[in-house]
Amino acid sequence: MPGPSVGRPSGGRPGLAGGGEAVTAGTTAPRPIAEVGELSAPAATPLVLRGVRPYGEGPRIDVRVEGGVISELGLSVDEGGADVVELPGMVLLPGLVDLHVHLREPGPGDAETIDSGLLAAARGGFSAVFAMANTKPATDTPEVAEAVWRRGQEAGLVDVHPVGAITKGLGGEELTDFQTLRDGAAKVRMLSDDGRCVGDPALMRAAVERAGKLGMLIAQHCEEARLTVGASAHEGEAAARLGLKGWPRAAEEAIVARDALLNRDYGGRLHICHASTAGTVELLRWAKAQGIPVTAEATPHHLSLTDARLEPDNGLFRVNPPLREESDRLALREALVDGTVDVVATDHAPHAARDKCCSFDAARPGMLGLETSLAIVHREFVATGLADWRFVARVMSERPAEIAGLPGHGRPIAVGEPANLAVVDPDSPWVASGEAMASIGDNTPFEGERYQARVALTVLRGRVTHRLDTDKDS
Ligand SMILES: [Zn+2]
Repeated sequence: MPGPSVGRPSGGRPGLAGGGEAVTAGTTAPRPIAEVGELSAPAATPLVLRGVRPYGEGPRIDVRVEGGVISELGLSVDEGGADVVELPGMVLLPGLVDLHVHLREPGPGDAETIDSGLLAAARGGFSAVFAMANTKPATDTPEVAEAVWRRGQEAGLVDVHPVGAITKGLGGEELTDFQTLRDGAAKVRMLSDDGRCVGDPALMRAAVERAGKLGMLIAQHCEEARLTVGASAHEGEAAARLGLKGWPRAAEEAIVARDALLNRDYGGRLHICHASTAGTVELLRWAKAQGIPVTAEATPHHLSLTDARLEPDNGLFRVNPPLREESDRLALREALVDGTVDVVATDHAPHAARDKCCSFDAARPGMLGLETSLAIVHREFVATGLADWRFVARVMSERPAEIAGLPGHGRPIAVGEPANLAVVDPDSPWVASGEAMASIGDNTPFEGERYQARVALTVLRGRVTHRLDTDKDS
């Protein structure tokens, strides 16, 4: 299948998405936190996507986008004055939303920057991402949050929502000022010390109570630190074989259980980051059955890899929580299909080469995820027949936008809705290569993997932010 081609009906190839130009805010907010404001005009030129299949269903149709919203859908639409993109038979989805990325800015810039991370996100089909707070310095004040948010708006590729730290400096001792984070320019709506767990149960209780009153979401990295001292791999056969100290399932599950109970008794909404074990799935199932307002994410790597892949001299497979066993992977997969686990989030975590080109034990934990996640979800769920493209739209766009209270994303593909869109070529074989990815760090565990589905086009408020050039990229 040929790659998409961009051109006005009269010929001539317009430029792609620019940086810099200001963009419009989304629609009305369903939650108490206001949508970020003071932004501006949508893409100036209308856009027509020709021959797409929304959610991979029904006949091929055309979609016209104007003023940053979908203005017309049908077997043929007005192409007047528009940039027309041929996307024959490709799957049209709402733009993807990632609740968990590490953009490493502010920071040293040797693993990722907001610019490089957003380019990776646009290539991955994302229109909005949540940037975790373990930056340097930590995102624990409205000023740092605003700087991250503004830098994202300047880049103009993907909406960046900074996650605020739960504790000052991610130190685990003193809560940040949730309200000033929420009321600042970046309108922080999610709080997390991700990378670390809020271990002190009394502090976590206070955080849950306070965030609940302010309508903010607490996202917990579940790791009972006393059980993972010196641990680098899942506590199982592979770790034993390689002589590595094990990271037991109970270290995750104990915190999932504790925090679900705190959430039950003290209100608020709790989100479990990177669920990795079959036991966590059982706890989530129990908590949801009790009506506890807990949600959870699973990563593409926990859904597709296990600790059978670990090698002593390869740091690329080190991640936190660690890759588990096949039974855990299968439980997560089933839980995502039945809704016990709500969403896929990448935990995109670039590292400088020196931090990954070493032994497994010495490597820093984390993996790239933004440019491979859609292809992995396609391979694990759609290609296997476990689920369809509606499911992909739900777990990678609609549900994450709902959880985060993001009104302009994860919306239905319908007239009048914001034109935040991703188009996927379901039959465009490609091979993953860390070096070819936009991130500064190259640390993908999927190096050399072959995939069938590929993001062909990403649109943010009517502007093309990524277009696959098959001549150049294949
Ligand atoms: Zn984490």
